[in-house]
Amino acid sequence: MKASQFLISTLKEAPADAEVVSHKLMTRAGMIKKLGAGIYNYMPMGLRVIRKVEAIVREEMNRAGAIEVTMPVVQPAELWQETGRFEKMGPELLRIKDRHERDFVIQPTSEEVVTDIARQEFKSYKQLPKNLYQIQTKFRDERRPRFGLMRGREFIMKDAYSFDKDRDTAQISYQTMREAYKRIFDRFGLQYRAVRADSGAIGGDLSEEFQVIASTGEDAIVYCPQSDYAANIEKAESLAPTQARPAAGQAMAKVATPGNSTCESVAAQLGLPLAQTVKSLVLATDELDDKGLIAKTQVWLLLLRGDHEMNEIKVGKVDGLAGFRFASVPEIEDHFGCKPGYLGPINLKKPVNLVVDRDVAVMADWVCGANEEDFHITGVNFGRDLPEPALVADLRNVVAGDPSPDGAGALAIERGIEIGHVFYLGTKYSQAMNATFLGDNGKPQHFEMGCYGIGVTRLPAAAIEQNHDERGIIWPDAIAPFTVVVCPIGMGRSEAVKTAAEQLYSELLALGVDVILDDRDERPGAMLADWELIGVPHRVVLGDRGLKDGVVEYQHRRDTEATKIAAGDILSDLK
Ligand code: ATP
Ligand code: MG
Ligand code: MG
Ligand code: MG
Repeated sequence: MKASQFLISTLKEAPADAEVVSHKLMTRAGMIKKLGAGIYNYMPMGLRVIRKVEAIVREEMNRAGAIEVTMPVVQPAELWQETGRFEKMGPELLRIKDRHERDFVIQPTSEEVVTDIARQEFKSYKQLPKNLYQIQTKFRDERRPRFGLMRGREFIMKDAYSFDKDRDTAQISYQTMREAYKRIFDRFGLQYRAVRADSGAIGGDLSEEFQVIASTGEDAIVYCPQSDYAANIEKAESLAPTQARPAAGQAMAKVATPGNSTCESVAAQLGLPLAQTVKSLVLATDELDDKGLIAKTQVWLLLLRGDHEMNEIKVGKVDGLAGFRFASVPEIEDHFGCKPGYLGPINLKKPVNLVVDRDVAVMADWVCGANEEDFHITGVNFGRDLPEPALVADLRNVVAGDPSPDGAGALAIERGIEIGHVFYLGTKYSQAMNATFLGDNGKPQHFEMGCYGIGVTRLPAAAIEQNHDERGIIWPDAIAPFTVVVCPIGMGRSEAVKTAAEQLYSELLALGVDVILDDRDERPGAMLADWELIGVPHRVVLGDRGLKDGVVEYQHRRDTEATKIAAGDILSDLK
């Protein structure tokens, strides 16, 4: 590729709404261009990265025996009605009508359609196991689209679905995918952890998330440095004994006024069953003035014991107040005069008359995805569902330093970005859609299924969070938009530079190296700054002076200085 024929559009300034470094750098490097909230153009430079991610994912999926298919982005609602998800899925599911007023959805995931394919195609146990995958556009109407490609509304996902004749072989299919995921993420050269994830009401432990370690991640990961124990915070909590935490408990006791609503009474008011687990809700109520602006905000910590389903609760408004929204931690601190600590079964500061309003589904989209059984809420994802990530450990039942469940040591907590998820589904979808095959006993049986996602467009963003410096992106070779950039200095003035640069460029091309020749004849400072921002890992600079001495300058994006290399050696060095 020649830069003059390509689209390079770097920016000095990051957009005002960019909070994290990957969003800033991808925009400044001209890789993405925002079209709407959570909707981006993948510009040519960015698309090259995405295509490389796809190629690696595709190669490893094929190697693992999965078969590629493409399912429609626009899907008839009927299939989604069969599983009940058309109604049950929260507002993340984009529903549309065609000209005949028929309902459709834009796929956020594809269990229904793939199960429909399976029930038609896989007639006998002899055809199993099978794994169908696609690399396809998804749409989720996220409550908080943000961070550029990290949490888009439109994004690309690789989603795979396995079909097996029984539970035992389904476990093998799951493990095969898990291994493939490790290969994939190893190839990207990223630091990641496979963590156990909560599988909600589906049961069993077979759900793992692949988390890229990054301080900007929206998820909290609990792990034990002394062993291979690793789980996301929801899972860690569900396994942890509910233990009293005197220190934090005392902090909360300060805010509790005895004799008021207790979590039991609030739960009773809401008609919630009480169970062993303690769940917390942080709510804020807004009093609006007559212009509809927020006049006064009140913040409540609700302490609910119970295995409740938020979908059923749908708290719509708080008695007498106009608005309802989630609270920020500073607001909580402000209101209660202390940091939110351990949420135990203590009293609320004041009685809260919560009115259950079934028309306002304010909570239905707290957790939503392919993998959340009927959107059963298994835990509030602080940082994503609530705006303050830093206090996760404080708000949770599990904190750093707790003993790890395997007894190997103390737990540590770090933040991560979910780039992949493997999930054993069992017969949930096959039963709902009556998808059967003929078993070896001659009787129809439901498929045992698994689903496996990778965030193809989230991945480059996660890679940048881990690999950047003050000058820009540092791409791992595997997904760099170009592997090598050839930068001739003063190409317009010097025939020698022009000839040498073009020769090196064509030789590299002939070797199959993904090289770009910067033939724009830019000033050296601007040219080199562009490539540092874009993050091409290998750079060769050619200038008149060096060429006279028979040398060119090589610099890896991580190097602080260039190295002079004999012009004749550069080719074999870059191979
Ligand atoms: P999250 O917890 O971040 O909302 P999820 O658990 O809802 O993700 P899955 O249903 O497991 O997502 O989908 C599989 C993969 O798709 C995720 O692991 C993630 O990498 C990617 N993904 C999910 N939502 C988005 C999004 N809004 N933008 C970009 N990638 C996404
Ligand atoms: Mg989600
Ligand atoms: Mg998730
Ligand atoms: Mg997930």
